[in-house]
Order: sequence, then C-alpha cells, then structure tokens
Amino acid sequence: MKIEIIKCLQDNYSYLIIDEKNKSACVVDPSEASPIINFIENKKIKLECILNTHHHYDHIGGNIELKNKYDCDVVVFEGDQSRIPGANINVVDNQIWKKNNFEAKIFHIPGHTTGHIAFYFFKEKKIFTGDTLFSLGCGRIFEGTYEQMFNSLNKIKKLPKNTEIYCGHEYTLQNSNFCLENDSKNLKLQKKIVKIKEKLKKKLPTIPTILGDEIECNIFLKTNSLESFTKLRDLKDNF
Ligand code: ZN
Ligand code: FE
Repeated sequence: MKIEIIKCLQDNYSYLIIDEKNKSACVVDPSEASPIINFIENKKIKLECILNTHHHYDHIGGNIELKNKYDCDVVVFEGDQSRIPGANINVVDNQIWKKNNFEAKIFHIPGHTTGHIAFYFFKEKKIFTGDTLFSLGCGRIFEGTYEQMFNSLNKIKKLPKNTEIYCGHEYTLQNSNFCLENDSKNLKLQKKIVKIKEKLKKKLPTIPTILGDEIECNIFLKTNSLESFTKLRDLKDNF
C-alpha cells in the first residue's frame, strides 16, 4: 500500500492510498477533483472509494465530480450522510471497513465536528485524522465539546507509537510556534522544528508525522487534563 500526498486548495492535503498490485486506490478527503483526476489518469489507477473524515467543504469538494466520473463509493460516518455529497456507505465507531485489499478501523472522533471520523489502516499502521489531530496541533472545536475533542485525541494516543499520521492540512509550522511558546525547553520539539523547516524549504510536506513524536512534542497530546487542554485550545484560537 503506497500513500501519495496530493496538495489541494491553499493548504489541504488529500491522500491516495494505492494498491499497486491491483492498480486501484482510495482517496481520503478530496478537497477538489482535478488534482486527483490528473494523478490517477496519469498512473492509470482505478479510483474505488472516497473516504471522508468530515463534512467541511475543503474535505469533500471533489466528491461529486469524482463519483460521477469513476462510480466510486463514498464512505462517511453514519450520522453525516445527509451532509456529505455522494455518500453511499455509512460506517460507525470501531467498525472494520473493508473493500478488496483496503481495510481500516473506523474511529469516531468528535470535537471539530460531531461526525468526524478517522480511518486507521491497522495493518499498515497509518491513520488519517482529518482536522482532529494535526502535526503539533489539533483542530478547532466547531460543533463538539472540549471534552469530546480531548477524548478523541486520547483515543489516537493509544495507538502504536510508530503509527504514521496523515492529517488534513499543512499547519505544522504555525502549530510549532504555539508549541514552542508553551513548551520552550522541549529539546525534541526544537529538533523537530529544524526538520520541519528543512522540509518546507524544499517545498516538501511535513506529513506524515509519527505518533511517538507527536506525543512528545504536540502540546495538545502532552497535556493530561481536560482543564489544561481547554485552556490551551482557547489560547490557540487567539494565537
Ligand atoms: Zn474541517
Ligand atoms: Fe479542513
């Protein structure tokens, strides 16, 4: 299984999960259709599924065009089918979703939105976290509660430390400034920031990030109480 990172819009990432043997792929959160179409036409890959982490326009904008063109499935959280265009497969918390060689466990991780999910490809140890967990940050709380977001992050935290995290946006550098301000003596964080800047200088994504690194560097994962998480989230909103 190979992951191809597709830049979309301003700072969004869509991901193609490619089964190279079968020349088929799933796409996570296609913000727009054309960069996806360009890539798969070029490589002669068949698009089988769209996997949506949540309903925001910058994660679903390409759904209908892709579905019309490739007749692919659109996999969404069961409560969100009415607000995600093209949705035809509903999934629930802790379910194993499977199609051909693609197999992922679904985590319901509300907070950013009430219907937000992550797709955890447990055999490959890769998780697609949408706008819930970012590298060195977490999503804004739009529909859920602080407690839901805190619990959602804690669910992800329990995965194996070497899990690769693929999130919805390139926010890593901005996020790193906030982490540094609140955790200035963290050497691991300082080292990570050097690497982040090197990647961005070469116009490379800072994604994927590794869960173990995030647990040590991401201030929103480092905090162990709901109270301090809430405080940090509020501070970040005005940072
Ligand atoms: Zn969002
Ligand atoms: Fe987003």
